[in-house]
Amino acid sequence: MARKIGSRYTAHQILGRGSAGTVWLGEGPEGPVAIKMLREDLASDQELVGRFVQERTALLKLDHPHVVSVRDLVVDGNDLALVMDLVRGTDLRTRLDRERRLAPEAAVAIAIDIADGLAAAHAAQIVHRDVKPENVLLDMQGPLGPGGAHPALLTDFGVAKLIDTPRRTRATKIIGTPDYLAPEIVEGLPPRAAVDIYALATVLYELLAGFTPFGGGHPGAVLRRHVTETVVPLPGIPEELWQLIVQCLAKAPASRLRASELAAGLREQLPSLAGMPPLDVDEPESEASVPTVSMTYEDEAPAPEPVRRKGAVPLVPGGSLDSSNRDTHTSMRVPAPDELAGGPLGTARVPRASGDRRPGSARHRSEVRRRRLIMTTAGIALLAALGVGGWLAVTSSDEDPAPPPTHSSPAQP
Ligand code: ADP
Ligand code: MG
Repeated sequence: MARKIGSRYTAHQILGRGSAGTVWLGEGPEGPVAIKMLREDLASDQELVGRFVQERTALLKLDHPHVVSVRDLVVDGNDLALVMDLVRGTDLRTRLDRERRLAPEAAVAIAIDIADGLAAAHAAQIVHRDVKPENVLLDMQGPLGPGGAHPALLTDFGVAKLIDTPRRTRATKIIGTPDYLAPEIVEGLPPRAAVDIYALATVLYELLAGFTPFGGGHPGAVLRRHVTETVVPLPGIPEELWQLIVQCLAKAPASRLRASELAAGLREQLPSLAGMPPLDVDEPESEASVPTVSMTYEDEAPAPEPVRRKGAVPLVPGGSLDSSNRDTHTSMRVPAPDELAGGPLGTARVPRASGDRRPGSARHRSEVRRRRLIMTTAGIALLAALGVGGWLAVTSSDEDPAPPPTHSSPAQP
């Protein structure tokens, strides 16, 4: 079922499907490649294609061992294809799902690779904007690094911006990953390089802990935690490593390390992490126990079983968490500051050492029901405040309080 893509490439078989399109194993003049065929609705938008083509020079220039290079961009009739380096392996989300937590040495080795890739991108004035485990590919054919980690490569440069068009969100039900969003984005500031550092620190925390620092529960609660809460130390984490994470999760973008500084700091930690087992922590049970906002209060309904998050929460009640359906966070509306004010959704989530989990007692169930009532009430209030469904449907770019996205922002604020 070979398929010609432009005059130079042939797509042979589907490697996977993502939110932006389908990725094919293909062949080009210089050997095997991965070809991402963008979704029809993305590819048929002339203005959007034009914008993307304008940026191809910057994307094509980005050449680094820890970045999945975009080699070509093919506009062929109605098709828009991104030709990329082929990475033979899996993505970091798949590994994390399988292992739940990584040993600190391997987690740090992966974070160093990504920080190196980001340093190169930021030096070229390119901000990624969607750093998350799904966008990190592990090259299983590459040499093993510290902690037995395969080389990690950051992918999907430019794709966040492509999808980040308010019109896109009208027709589609969006599944977002607000877990990695820097507070300044939540507050409506333009995404600069420091948002990638915040997201990377969140990924590193997640690799170590098995959950993200501010995730869980309703997306509105997650966004608010980014703005208002501070991270609580993970039990057993070496102090120097923790300080690096804290610095990069700083609320003020200017207080965060630059990518090269983070890479250097993490490299210094590596020797002391050799042989250390994964941290022994349990995910905090706050409102994370309530998987989605329910719009009705069912007093007698059985309490929901705690559900382990995987870094994604549905933006629509009852929405699917199917990874093939995951969309980029950038389709959400930025909430107004007063929507982010404190309340029952913003309670601190304190990670506990493993074994500290309370059993599913009657008291626990009634507590979950009580929280569910709070969640329901707060959810209704929040939805009302947002103009019901404001997360999903942004009617026009004029109404979007976020300034137009840019990939050519300065590398540092
Ligand atoms: P999206 O970001 O649009 O959701 P992905 O980039 O996650 O889509 O791609 C979907 C699938 O294709 C992934 O599961 C991944 O395994 C595979 N894939 C993506 N890019 C490459 C690549 N450069 N090399 C090999 N496989 C890839
Ligand atoms: Mg992706």
